[in-house]
This record gives sequence, C-alpha cells and structure tokens, in this order.
Amino acid sequence: MEICDELRSFEATGVYRLDGTGATFLDPVRILNGSYQRFRVVPSAYYSRSFEPPPRQVGDLETEQPEKRRKRQRNQKPKPRELNAMERIAEARHQEARPLLLSAHESLIKDKQLLEYLSKTTDGKEHTPDAGSVSENNFVELGTSWRAPFYDITICFRKPHVLGNWEGSFDVQKTSFPLFNSIINVEAIDEAEGEFQNRRYILPRESCFLMTDYKHVRDLIPGRSNQGYNLIVVDPPWENGCVRQKQAYPTLPNRYLLYLPVQELAHTSGALLVLWITNREKLRVFVEQELLPTWGVKDPTVFYWLKVKPDGSLIGDLDLFHHRPYECLLLGYINVNTDAKQGSNFKLLEGSQVIMSVPGAHSRKPPLEKLLSEYIPGPKPPRCIELFARELFPGWTSWGNEPLHFQDSIYFAEK
Ligand code: SAM
Repeated sequence: MEICDELRSFEATGVYRLDGTGATFLDPVRILNGSYQRFRVVPSAYYSRSFEPPPRQVGDLETEQPEKRRKRQRNQKPKPRELNAMERIAEARHQEARPLLLSAHESLIKDKQLLEYLSKTTDGKEHTPDAGSVSENNFVELGTSWRAPFYDITICFRKPHVLGNWEGSFDVQKTSFPLFNSIINVEAIDEAEGEFQNRRYILPRESCFLMTDYKHVRDLIPGRSNQGYNLIVVDPPWENGCVRQKQAYPTLPNRYLLYLPVQELAHTSGALLVLWITNREKLRVFVEQELLPTWGVKDPTVFYWLKVKPDGSLIGDLDLFHHRPYECLLLGYINVNTDAKQGSNFKLLEGSQVIMSVPGAHSRKPPLEKLLSEYIPGPKPPRCIELFARELFPGWTSWGNEPLHFQDSIYFAEK
C-alpha cells in the first residue's frame, strides 16, 4: 500500500488530521518520542491498558475479586431510573455533542490506512511495567513525610564541552538538588538521568519541574511578568467517585482551584488556558460560572477527547450515561483581546474540535502542544506549563505533587 503524505507526517509527528471533519488523531507515544534522543517511550508501557489480559470469562467467577464482581454486576444490569434535573442538562449536552463525535469517529473508521497503522501500535511484546507497583516511588506519600526536606535527587547532565572545538563533544556533570519544594531545571544538550532511592528517571532536555503540594503553588509565579506562560494546561484532581474507588491519587475540593494563581502565571502577551474537566454537570457549571471568570479566562470553547481502542472502536458505548468514552477540555484566552486580534501571530481558537487517541494509564492525558501550537499567543517558541502534571516535556515547566511519575525509567527503553 502506498503511504499517503498525511500518514508519513503522522509517522514523524504523531499528529494526523482527518479529512473533512476537523478531527485529529494523536499517537502520544510518537509525540513523546520526538522529545528524546537517547531513549524512547515503550508503547506497551504507555498503552498499558491495551496490553492488559482480556477480561475474565464468566466461567472464572470463583477467582473474581468481590469489588470487580460488584462492578461487573452493576454494569450488566443498569437499573433504568429517571434522570434528575442536572443529569438531564448533562444528557442534553451529550446529545448536542453526539453528531460531532460520531462524525469524527466515522472518519477514523473509514481511514483504513491509519487503522492498519494503528493496529501495529500495540503489537509486539516489549516489557509491560506493573504500573503502580510497590517498586515505583510514591512521590505523593514521600512528599508528605517529615523526611521530605532531606530527600535529594542526583541528576547526571550532558552539557556542551566548554573548551571543546569539535562538534558533538560534551561534559558530564552530576549535581544533587532537593527533590521537593525546589524548582529544578534540566539544562542539558539531551535528556538527563536522575537517580533517587535506587530508581532512575529520564528527564527531557530543557524541562523544568517543581514537586510540591498545592500550598506552595505560588512558588511558580515568575519574578518578571515577561517570564509568564503562553500555554497553561490544568488537569486538576477533581473529586469524583472513580478516582476515589481506584485510589489513584488524592483529590482537592473544587473551591481550592479558585486560588490557583493562573492570572499571575499568564504571560503579559497573552496565554491560552486549557482545562481538563469531567462530565459531571455540577462541575461544568462551577467551572463555567465561577472558576474561569475568576481566572480571567475569556470566551471558553470546548474540545472533546474521544478514546478509542487500537482497532479504532470506541472504548465504550457512547451513550452510557456514567461512563462516556470521552472527556472534555475547555480552552480560552487570558490577557488577549480577542476582538482586536488582527495582525497577531496566532490563529483564534475554533471551537468543538475532536481529538482521538488510544488512552494510556488511568487519567493520563495526550500531549497537546503540537495540536494547539497555532492557537498559542505570544513569542515563539511559547512558554508552556502544566499544573497537576505527572510527566515532563522539553521546554515546559511541570508542577504537581508527582511530576516525575511517568519519567520513571520503567516507561522507557534505550534507543
Ligand atoms: N495530567 C496528568 C496526566 O496526564 O497524567 C494527570 C493529573 S491527575 C488528574 C491530578 C494530579 O494532581 C495527580 O498527580 C495528583 O497526585 C495531583 N494532586 C492531588 N492533590 C494535589 C495537591 N494537594 N497538590 C499538588 N498536586 C496534587
């Protein structure tokens, strides 16, 4: 089969624009691998859910865990009941988004070349890390221990050779930094390797991170206003049943988010803010009516992240009320006069776009910078930050109580 230009570009970038619908398919592994020179993200480690063994057959009931059994039984017999007023509004939003989501999905299903390519994404049997296993460091716990101020991370950087006059020469420098409550910059020619408690972390070049609790988030505010950020991605630990059940990470009361210093983090020349939300109507109302106005975000628009399996099918029934196979993200501008945008070096957001990808670990979101680059105001390359991050990107600042989580070397292999 002849490979089309879009597929060739997808191979290089991890971004595939589907014809006609304005929908985009992303391959997070390909996108992330553009950030590394000596390492690569292992697909079976990223797409761990697609590599899990198939669900048990009904014959295996004796060995099934009680919680899993209850969940299966709940899903098998959904009790029909009347929706309450909030749920009816959520259902109306879903009905409004439905044709757009279906048409985006249809364009993916029709693209046989992409599907064939996709099926190979989760082929093969490289090591599959037991994510969340006891061997991984639990930064959330370590950060709250009385020992936290004494923990150091040792980072091995490769820096250009100061006196070297031949190309490609470098010096290796090993430096220790306090791991918690300190801003760490990875200023190196390629990825650096960090060591903490006998585990290795792969740190992309020019990345920066601050591992703290929410109480210290104001330490991120830049000293000078022209050092603010042009892209601010926020993925809060919203309170919800699924996170509680899975004990995936601690959550924060929604109202705490009102104090996130988003205005102070925004660049004076403007910022695009991206906020991941859940499908709960009560949260959507809080975000649209209180949170975004408090942060100074103007005219938010919605994008959808539709989750698919490696064969292109949806990860679940589109119409299942409490388990939609999609999540929403709200996008809007800060410090940008969208009426007087003429002559600026960026394109204004077009609403209601659909992003599709195969999901990784629980709550892990696809990387967005490439997809959004044309909509980011301010100087190029843009300054980008992720709040409540669990991974690092080159040129970005990542903040949260576990920004090194997915940088553990178990998610990587040497190139
Ligand atoms: N964007 C991430 C990703 O793609 O993998 C997922 C972020 S997850 C929804 C929310 C994150 O906020 C978790 O890593 C959680 O541990 C962190 N978090 C929870 N409470 C926090 C707090 N008090 N301070 C800082 N981070 C917190």
